[in-house]
Parts: sequence; structure tokens; C-alpha cells
Amino acid sequence: MYAGRIQGVGPRYCPSVEDKVMRFADKASHQVFLEPESLSTDVIYANGVSTSLPAEVQETFLRAIPGLERARFLRHGYAVEYDFAQPSQLTDTLAVRAVPGLWLAGQINGTSGYEEAAGQGLVAGANAALWALGRGAFTLARDEAYVGVMVDDLIVSNPSEPYRMFTSRAEHRLLLRHDNADERLVPRAAEVGLVGNDALAGLDAKRAAKDAAKAVLSGVRSAEHGHRTLAELLLRPEVTLAELVARHAELAALELEPETAESLEVELKYSGYIERQHENVARMKRQESVEIPQDLDYRALSGLANEAKDKLAKLRPRTLGQAARIAGVRPPDVALLAIHVERRRRERAERG
Ligand SMILES: Cc1cc2nc3c(=O)[nH]c(=O)nc-3n(C[C@H](O)[C@H](O)[C@H](O)COP(=O)(O)OP(=O)(O)OC[C@H]3O[C@@H](n4cnc5c(N)ncnc54)[C@H](O)[C@@H]3O)c2cc1C
Repeated sequence: MYAGRIQGVGPRYCPSVEDKVMRFADKASHQVFLEPESLSTDVIYANGVSTSLPAEVQETFLRAIPGLERARFLRHGYAVEYDFAQPSQLTDTLAVRAVPGLWLAGQINGTSGYEEAAGQGLVAGANAALWALGRGAFTLARDEAYVGVMVDDLIVSNPSEPYRMFTSRAEHRLLLRHDNADERLVPRAAEVGLVGNDALAGLDAKRAAKDAAKAVLSGVRSAEHGHRTLAELLLRPEVTLAELVARHAELAALELEPETAESLEVELKYSGYIERQHENVARMKRQESVEIPQDLDYRALSGLANEAKDKLAKLRPRTLGQAARIAGVRPPDVALLAIHVERRRRERAERG
């Protein structure tokens, strides 16, 4: 594989040890983790040395590591090259457009990773069940969940190498925080029966505790600080919620759980930035929701760049928002497309 006799693009984010040697030639050492595969065997997975070098090279190399001189190989390392289905053939529920009743999730969609596979499995599985029950679809938006970002990236931009979910792929990262994951997603999961009442009850308790704390924070003023409210003080970078709790019995009496306190602190401290991000989301949603007629002949549209025409004709985005996120479609193309779509809408309205 290293010699280039295989065409496939290797997994960029989990390079083989031979790749690492070439790419990070300046490093003097490399860590290898010896992971026991089970409590009941002495099989070890050598993590950090994935390789497809010839078997005898692997043996010589591994046994050169102090402590592994007498290691025995159960299976040599090998490379896998696998086919995948172009995810642009899927809807936002991961259903195959051409085959009703079929959903694809995981590596078959060209992704790499445990979480990537699990996240897609959740979307595809929930939608398969909802479909069987004759109920509506379950989709997550880009500003609601990383799963939403991933599914949208897959179906809209049709990645050409193994796709990994990175936080940097989300444009609304301030909203997609771990401290508010339950507030974002438990109600959505409950709507379709993915979580039970206890999860909802836990969320209600957290929200009630946060509301009570917010009432205290905006009600109590600090005499030492020009009678500012505690909420105002918390906006200062040097002031922490823990300090305010230590100084004000009203806050301490609420006995906030550590997770609730963290969530509250983040929400209040960064409220200005979070508010601005919500405004951005609203602006993008207005554009996002404008539907593009599915029979639009992109090649006949004047003014669009050729690359944009090709990509749009191939990927057929459902909305202007999706069109804007396709690599190769630039903002001026989206602006022109918006004009064409609006013109079509008016012509149709006039015809009745
Ligand atoms: C050595 C190695 C190390 C990795 N390390 C990491 C890591 O550290 N972190 C990470 O995030 N990802 C890692 N990955 C990637 C990750 O394992 C995969 O991306 C992920 O498991 C894919 O999940 P999946 O459910 O899509 O496919 P799979 O886990 O491959 O599941 C497909 C299943 O379908 C079954 N199957 C196939 N054909 C049939 C059939 N005809 N009938 C019935 N069943 C069938 C297979 O037996 C298999 O159980 C690693 C992969 C490898 C190979």
C-alpha cells in the first residue's frame, strides 16, 4: 500500500506506522499502547502501529521494541480497501432515495470511526422504525447536534475521502456544547420515543435549578461592586460562579449539582456570544429553508460558474442552504441561484 500500488486514499486521521515514519520523520520516538483485548485471554492489540508492511518486516520491527522480544503474532497487520455508497444518494434521514425502505449508516457511507458509525446508526435506525410505524421523520439540524452536521456534510458535499467528524466542521460550535447536550437533545429524543420519562424528569430538574439560580443571580446586588447584580459580575472574565456561591448564602442554599453549575456558568458568561450565534442561525435558516425546484436545469442557468453548475446538477441540493455548503459553490453562485429560484416561484404563482 505504501508503494502506491493501491489507488485508495488512506485514512488521513489514522495513518499507518510507515506513514508516520515518513510524515513525522523529525520525531525521535513514538508511543505504542499495548491494549489487552479481553480479561479472559492474553491477546494484546498493539495500538499505534497499524501497518500493512510484509509479515517478516512486522515481526522484526515489533520484536525490536523492548519487552516485545518474544511477542507472537496471532494476525499480522493488513490494510483494508473497501467500497462505499456515495452518500449524496441519501436523504437527510439516511434513506436511500432510489430504494424506499432502505437506510445506510456507518462506514458504508464513506465515514471512518466509532462515533461516526454510531451517530448515523441512531438516525437511520430511528427513521427506519418511524417509517415502519407510519410516523414522520426524525432529523437533527446543524445548529442542534454534531450528528446533524455530519449527516448534512455527508449528503450535501459527498466527501471524497474517509469522513471524520470534527468539532471544527460545525459553524455553530458555541451552541453545540457538552454541558447543554441534554437540553438540546433530550426533548427531541423524547418526541420520537428514544428516551423515557426519567430522562425528561432529570432535564426538568436541571432546568428548574438553573432558573432558580438565575433568579438569585439577577436579584442579588453586590454592595462592593457598585450594586451590580451577581449576573452582571459573572460576565467579568475573572469572576467565577464558585466564588459567588462561596460568598452568597442565597446561592449556596440552592446546592447546585456540579454539572448544573457548569452549564449555568457557561450560559451566563458567554451569553453575549451565544445570543449572536442564535441570530446567525436565524439568518441562515431563512436562507436554508428556501426550497429549490428539483427539476431545475442548472446547466441552462446563466451566470453560474461551470464548477457550480456541475456540482449542483450532480448533488441536487434541496434548499439554498444546502447549495451554499457544497464545496465549489461560491457565495455569488448562491446569490444568483436565489434570484433564479425566486423568479421561478413568481412565474409559477402568476400562472396560478
Ligand atoms: C484496526 C482498526 C482500528 C480502528 N481504530 C479506530 C479507533 O481507534 N477509533 C475509531 O473511531 N475508529 C476506529 N476504526 C474505524 C472503525 O472501527 C469503523 O469505522 C467502524 O467500526 C465502522 O462501523 P460500521 O458499523 O459502519 O461497520 P462495521 O463495524 O464493520 O460493521 C459491519 C458489520 O456487518 C457485518 N456484515 C458484513 N457483511 C454482512 C452480511 N452479508 N450479513 C450480515 N452481516 C454482515 C460485519 O460482520 C460487521 O459486524 C478502526 C478500524 C480498524 C480496522
